[in-house]
Amino acid sequence: MNVYQNAMKQLDKAAKSVNLSETTVAILREPQRIIEVSLPVVMDDGAVRVFKGYRVQHNNARGPFKGGFRFHEQVDLDEVKALAFWMSMKCAVVDVPFGGGKGGVTVNPKNLSAGEKERLTRSFVRAISPAIGVNRDVPAPDVNTNAEIMGWFVDEYSRAVGHLEPGVVTGKPLCLGGSLGRDSATGRGGLFVLDGYLEEKGLKPEDLTVAVQGFGNAGQHFARLAHERGYKIVAVSDSSGGIHNPDGLDPEAVIRHKQETRGVSGLPGSQAVTNDELLKLEVDVLVPAALENQITGENAGDLKAKVVLELANGPTTPDADKQLHERGTVVIPDILANAGGVAVSYYEWVQNREGKYWSEEEVNSQLAEKMALAFREVHATADRHDVPLRTGAFILAAGRLGEAITSKGVY
Ligand code: NAD
Repeated sequence: MNVYQNAMKQLDKAAKSVNLSETTVAILREPQRIIEVSLPVVMDDGAVRVFKGYRVQHNNARGPFKGGFRFHEQVDLDEVKALAFWMSMKCAVVDVPFGGGKGGVTVNPKNLSAGEKERLTRSFVRAISPAIGVNRDVPAPDVNTNAEIMGWFVDEYSRAVGHLEPGVVTGKPLCLGGSLGRDSATGRGGLFVLDGYLEEKGLKPEDLTVAVQGFGNAGQHFARLAHERGYKIVAVSDSSGGIHNPDGLDPEAVIRHKQETRGVSGLPGSQAVTNDELLKLEVDVLVPAALENQITGENAGDLKAKVVLELANGPTTPDADKQLHERGTVVIPDILANAGGVAVSYYEWVQNREGKYWSEEEVNSQLAEKMALAFREVHATADRHDVPLRTGAFILAAGRLGEAITSKGVY
């Protein structure tokens, strides 16, 4: 289940469906630049540990490379390459003027103190700073990275260039030039896309039950906002395990419980489920919001959900995708469903460049418009070519990227 090979299979499927230009496909298959760095960090006990970090700059035909960076023990080059490729496609799907990039450090951050995490972040920024910048490559938060870490990022980069440069990274604290609405943007954007699907099918939120795998930035905000909208959230999980209540969970209570106990498990009034059981629950909508390769050829046959809304990147393998499609399960693909995060990152970057800041209402209403349009465009492309939504999204994105690549000239 190599995640980069999975991503290339998705591209090949789109290429076959519409005869995408061979030049575009050949260019999109390879990242423009791979940066691999070693990061020495003085640990609290005085010992030095050397970590491995990556920044992959996939394509910048449509604008500066853009994409988060994560701290996770599973990070390797193929994972970061896949994630960077998906960022190029995602930015094209929602039509923001960015290319795709991604970064990561191979580390379990739960084993680091706050000081060690800060020194690791600063070491990573120093290592990649010659290759990034507000017009060049703009990172952001991802798994196990957050606004606090982006604050250290701004500071370390600003020291290197000799002036405050808030626009070098998005997802920053508000006091350093962050945007209102960025924190909740991925979950909110996913909800706007689901709204588009419901409208199309004539369904109402109150009619639907939802299970969410992964209760971090993307999953928590989605669950909270979906509950407010009337959906019944019946199960959520994180790396500590899962909880289920067929009568519905209150995501705010789950968030408080997680803050107090560091996990969702054990919420009073809920039943325990494993992460695997959660995927197979009798629900209408399943929302993977954790990591890649969760829905596979092995477990796809046991899924009961009618809709899979991919807030995580790459949660469904190509084998599983095929099985789900054959059974009539609708998969709303990651490069559309979780693009709200990069859309508001774009708004943050615009605000940093203008030096003029927007209200939260302005951010959310622009996001609503952008996600609704992206859903309609992906849906129409998929319908036109009689393909699943994922392939429709790839056709739309590759078309936009191809146009930029060929307009600049390939020589
Ligand atoms: P996060 O670190 O805030 O949260 C990740 C959550 O997943 C945590 O609750 C963690 O406990 C849980 N988790 C980890 N392993 C798990 C497992 N095996 N089963 C169930 N839960 C598990 O990360 P995030 O920013 O919410 O990112 C989650 C996913 O969303 C990733 O695929 C990321 O690339 C994608 N995404 C995030 C953003 C963003 O703006 N943060 C934007 C687009 C896509």
